[in-house]
Amino acid sequence: MPAQLDPGAVLVQISATTICGSDLHTHAGRRAEPAPSVLGHEAVGRVVATGPGRGAWLHRRITWASTDSCGACAACREWDLPQKCASVFKYGHALVSESQGLTGSYATHLVLRRGTHLVEIPPEIPDVVAASANCSLATMVHAVEQRPTSCRVALVIGAGLLGLHGCALLRASGVPRVLVAESDLRRRARIADFGGVAVDPADLHPQSIDVVVDATGDPVAIGASLGLLRPGGMCTLVGSVHAQAPLPVTGEVLVRGCVTMRGVHNYAARHLDAAVAFLRGSSLPWPSIVGPPLPLDRIDEAFALAATRQWARVAVRTSS
Ligand SMILES: [Zn+2]
Ligand SMILES: [Zn+2]
Repeated sequence: MPAQLDPGAVLVQISATTICGSDLHTHAGRRAEPAPSVLGHEAVGRVVATGPGRGAWLHRRITWASTDSCGACAACREWDLPQKCASVFKYGHALVSESQGLTGSYATHLVLRRGTHLVEIPPEIPDVVAASANCSLATMVHAVEQRPTSCRVALVIGAGLLGLHGCALLRASGVPRVLVAESDLRRRARIADFGGVAVDPADLHPQSIDVVVDATGDPVAIGASLGLLRPGGMCTLVGSVHAQAPLPVTGEVLVRGCVTMRGVHNYAARHLDAAVAFLRGSSLPWPSIVGPPLPLDRIDEAFALAATRQWARVAVRTSS
């Protein structure tokens, strides 16, 4: 534990954390991270100590932006992309030698730096539901923020947590029909609970979709979805976070279809605020898709359970 916190830093006692797909990739050796490090970035906890300037946060139950940014560079000030800050710091992806040592959420405590946006969690949102607000949900808030004018039918590709968050957000934002493509039967069974309609994209008509939101990164599925967009439609990519085959798309498809393609990675402070506000007002069965929490000393078991994909998230309870 640091003897003294840096100005603007807060020490959080983590109450629950969830295992993100990105950590499964790292754990399995498919993704390289600096070592030694503490993994884990989706979490909720209580502020137990504060550095100068953050005293008002003491004892509050919070989540936080998964990236820390400087607030001064072009990405922060001019591009509306603090997550692409020139000196960005990512929780759960840093060396333990950085940021007073406690940099990941698979731990009892974490130190949040001065440039990290904090959000109080309303008491009615359970820990295991709040934990993934700062990754999957806030990213999807960013993803669905832009839609074509007149958006009646959306297609979400993938019904993992990202896809379910996207589906629920699109419905809540007034899109009357949200179709969700998912081949895994257990995942497919959850779609209706979150306001979506499970579909096989092969059954859909060309030019029947206003917006596609991809949560899988599957180049074949993305390529096929472009043929479903109506003129002026939009394709937003969220899941393409690993090196993959090139997308099978020609410039002509985009030009003649007046199609907009967008890439969305992480989010800004307002998206996290909106994510927490969304959960507060949501009556959807979010707890039903999180596995029963395991204690931190059984984290290997939790990773094995997460890898089965039985649950949208597996939770780890880090303190009593
Ligand atoms: Zn995550
Ligand atoms: Zn910056």
